[in-house]
Amino acid sequence: MTHSLRIHAVRYAADGVLLFDLRHPEELELPGFEPGAHIDLNLPEERIRSYSLINDPAERHRDQIGVRRAPDGRGGSARMHDFARVGERIQVGTPRNHFALQEGAHHSTLVAGGIGITPLWSMLRRLERIERPWHLNYRCSSRASAAFLAELSQPWRQGQVTLSFSDEGAPRFDWERLVNEVPPGGHLYCCGPRNMIESFQMACKDLDPARVHIEHFTAAPDNASTKVSRSCSRAVAPGSGCLPTRRC
Ligand SMILES: Cc1cc2nc3c(=O)[nH]c(=O)nc-3n(C[C@H](O)[C@H](O)[C@H](O)COP(=O)(O)OP(=O)(O)OC[C@H]3O[C@@H](n4cnc5c(N)ncnc54)[C@H](O)[C@@H]3O)c2cc1C
Repeated sequence: MTHSLRIHAVRYAADGVLLFDLRHPEELELPGFEPGAHIDLNLPEERIRSYSLINDPAERHRDQIGVRRAPDGRGGSARMHDFARVGERIQVGTPRNHFALQEGAHHSTLVAGGIGITPLWSMLRRLERIERPWHLNYRCSSRASAAFLAELSQPWRQGQVTLSFSDEGAPRFDWERLVNEVPPGGHLYCCGPRNMIESFQMACKDLDPARVHIEHFTAAPDNASTKVSRSCSRAVAPGSGCLPTRRC
């Protein structure tokens, strides 16, 4: 089911990343969602693209998403960057969540690469609110391209943020250390580019899969009848992979 929302505001977040604030045209409440959830936007030319909700789930007056322009994409994100204007209406699906936060965990380790920060940004603020410890490792190509950098650089009560930037010569993640530092029973979440997710899966291969959570921002292959971005995100047995043609 979809509903029509109005683009209420567009804001610059980082190089190549815009934030869209979507509201009901009559200011009605929007469906609730949990951290990690995403919505599907129905874009022109039958393009459906998924975007993680980044606002506080306690907010019901808006959906907020962050869209990175994919330079090698098929046009969905470029449409949002180049043509979506404040005041325009857009068809939006109800929130769905395949990357749910386990709020009962004693500790959460979050790993983000680039635009993969979006679902984790919502999660870490929830963890702050419910007073659960967390640690975010956020890797970007540069400071300029890192969304939420200023906010993340503030002190947090429950959490710790480790930033690294490739253009500053930051070494690759020490995955073994990262996993070894997770307290017993802690849950791990990763959203980022394919190579990051593969490394994360390898590093977590000996952990209980129920503690390991992955969100792929995967594009579906072009198909005349369904131009749909598929999500394949769940607690994953490392190395098990995901079928690209169905929602997990
Ligand atoms: C659950 C979920 C949440 C998401 N959340 C966000 C978010 O918060 N922010 C965000 O910016 N994006 C998010 N995405 C990705 C988003 O849905 C779009 O895929 C992205 O905006 C790029 O769209 P596009 O049409 O420009 O490029 P797409 O055509 O979707 O291309 C994306 C990538 O797929 C590859 N690709 C290009 N052509 C093809 C092809 N023919 N077949 C297969 N692959 C191809 C390219 O490497 C390209 O970079 C999410 C995806 C999912 C599934």
